[in-house]
Amino acid sequence: MTPMSHALQLANVTFDYGEDFSLTIAELSLNKGEMALISGGSGSGKSTLLWLIAGLLRATSGSISVAGERMDGVSESAADRIRARHIGLVFQTHHLLPEFSAQDNVSLALMAAGEPEKTHAARARELLNKLGIERVHVPVANLSVGQQQRVAVARAIVCKPTIVLADEPTASLDEMNASQAMDLIQQACREAGAALLCASHDRAMQSRFERVIQVDSFVSTKRASTKSGARA
Ligand code: ADP
Ligand code: MG
Repeated sequence: MTPMSHALQLANVTFDYGEDFSLTIAELSLNKGEMALISGGSGSGKSTLLWLIAGLLRATSGSISVAGERMDGVSESAADRIRARHIGLVFQTHHLLPEFSAQDNVSLALMAAGEPEKTHAARARELLNKLGIERVHVPVANLSVGQQQRVAVARAIVCKPTIVLADEPTASLDEMNASQAMDLIQQACREAGAALLCASHDRAMQSRFERVIQVDSFVSTKRASTKSGARA
């Protein structure tokens, strides 16, 4: 059983990409609302760990629970449901639908989480406005990179997820925009009551987090840990 105070709990998780790279995580948990950085160089396994937690990669063994619900050993559609309801994802490149408006991109997250349809447009618009996006009806392709990142943050938190997983969320931004984007992500998580697990190779990020987890401590195949990552 996962205590209700935990946003995330991993126990005895193993995963490998054949013989080249493997992760072993004896224990890792995050309390509700806790913010932690996953630190490590390029190719050290940060993205792999986040993808395992999100249920986008399947662990070989062990248990992964998000908001007390098991992500491992369930069907793909069950994992999709848990992800939509409890996990917000923010990536380096934002993965928005470029021809869709900001409002529609955010509404789609509410739809996936099974929120009442009548509420989608207003909830999306209200959150976007709060995050400084006024032009909610133009295609997101017509917004600046910084604005698109704000839309991606809105999409990640609109369902009030239990945990936000952010994978190198600032890597495509310049220093000033990166700092503002991190402020935004952390403040948005705080307001939504979401825990945050953020992966970054940037050591300067460490000062922003109460807790820093070195991904190297989970890697059992050292040979691969210096190669550049496929999703770095
Ligand atoms: P990071 O996000 O820290 O840069 P990754 O999790 O992307 O690291 O990658 C960790 C290791 O796994 C690297 O050695 C990478 O080359 C390897 N790897 C990543 N994706 C795959 C894959 N789909 N198949 C095989 N090996 C992979
Ligand atoms: Mg990566």
